[in-house]
Amino acid sequence: MEKTSHLSVMGGGLVGCLLSLYLSKQGYKVDVYERRPDLRRHDIGGGRSINLALSDRGWRALETIGISEEIKKVAIPLYRRVMHDKNGNLSFQPYGQEGQAIYSVSRGGLNEVLLDLAEAQPSISLHFQQQVLEVEVNSNKVTLLDTNTQQEHQIQPDVIFAADGAFSMVRLSLQKTERFNYEQSYLDYGYKELTIPPAADGGWQLEKNALHIWPRGQYMMIALPNMDGSFTCTMFFPYAGNPSFESLQTAEDLERFFGEVFPDAAALMPDLAQEFFENPIGTLVTIKCFPWSHAGKILLVGDAAHAIVPFYGQGMNAGFEDCTVLRNLLEQHQDDWETIFKTFQDVRKPNTDAIADLAVYNFIEMRDKVADPRFLLQKKVEAK
Ligand code: FAD
Repeated sequence: MEKTSHLSVMGGGLVGCLLSLYLSKQGYKVDVYERRPDLRRHDIGGGRSINLALSDRGWRALETIGISEEIKKVAIPLYRRVMHDKNGNLSFQPYGQEGQAIYSVSRGGLNEVLLDLAEAQPSISLHFQQQVLEVEVNSNKVTLLDTNTQQEHQIQPDVIFAADGAFSMVRLSLQKTERFNYEQSYLDYGYKELTIPPAADGGWQLEKNALHIWPRGQYMMIALPNMDGSFTCTMFFPYAGNPSFESLQTAEDLERFFGEVFPDAAALMPDLAQEFFENPIGTLVTIKCFPWSHAGKILLVGDAAHAIVPFYGQGMNAGFEDCTVLRNLLEQHQDDWETIFKTFQDVRKPNTDAIADLAVYNFIEMRDKVADPRFLLQKKVEAK
């Protein structure tokens, strides 16, 4: 049965799209407002990471609304970690029992599938190039900028779901309310994306069904496969000190450094210098805040509520799990938004705080401990 409340989702990224599908399945009419142009029709680049690891929590959320098979078509299973030492020797750690895997998916590809599915629902309307500027939290009036016409306009939904990411404008409006807690902390590390292109025959130049790691103590590089035969490498590296983004200033510095510390990868990166000096350095931030809701009319979800560093590969997965939990609460409490939102934030906050802290800890594990010979020996035995 169609419900009468007018719901708006701010942000048509991964979580905003999935949430709009969940809400429409519950019988609501939903408007989605997205700052960027439609990524299915425009090459908008500048996304955060090119590919993502999708794991169990994420799959469960996709299965709930019957779209996991659709997504599996664009996902590559990764059964183990492959560690590369400075001499190009490899060691292995399985992710679980035989057959268990995490999956590499393209961020853009996944967002496209979710947008297609949302667009196919008559009860969901997608509005692109609509940037939230501000929310008047007492009246629920949202000021939007149409970035195409540069005109501002206002809407007044009954309920606002803020899925507008780590730098949420909805959250910024909530920050001005009384007793709203907010903290953000940046790592002294940034990340740079680089590419290992497909082999001449179109295949993968490293083991395809694995997450590759080059652990180097104070820094590291990882690589995930893409469907087109390439790998996206992400180098997590200090901003300052030696070595750092600051210390690698010329193509000679860079090539010498990569030749010493990542020789096997460097040999597969023909565009290394160009990519390294042209691609932006991404920041790594943890954001915690509370409460996530206001007066039963506004709710923060996904990164807007809990942005975490990527070392557990769980940011999107946690955002997808938000949707599963919300769905269960919607079924129990129907339109009682105040109860739904309060229960949601009380249930989710301890979990997302825990994964935020674990994610920071896992950086040390991935860049350093996975290269510890004692650890490797143990894992090699397990791998048999
Ligand atoms: P976003 O994906 O940021 O989407 C927010 C959307 O809102 C965007 O479409 C944006 O354009 C829009 N928007 C922003 N501001 C406004 C506004 N003012 N008005 C309207 N719209 C707006 N997670 C994993 O689970 N696995 C991984 O392997 C993984 N790897 C990662 C690697 C890196 C390098 C990084 C940085 C993150 C990684 N993450 C990973 C985390 C994951 O990217 C996020 O948790 C996920 O994208 C959160 O989804 P979201 O929809 O909440 O936010």
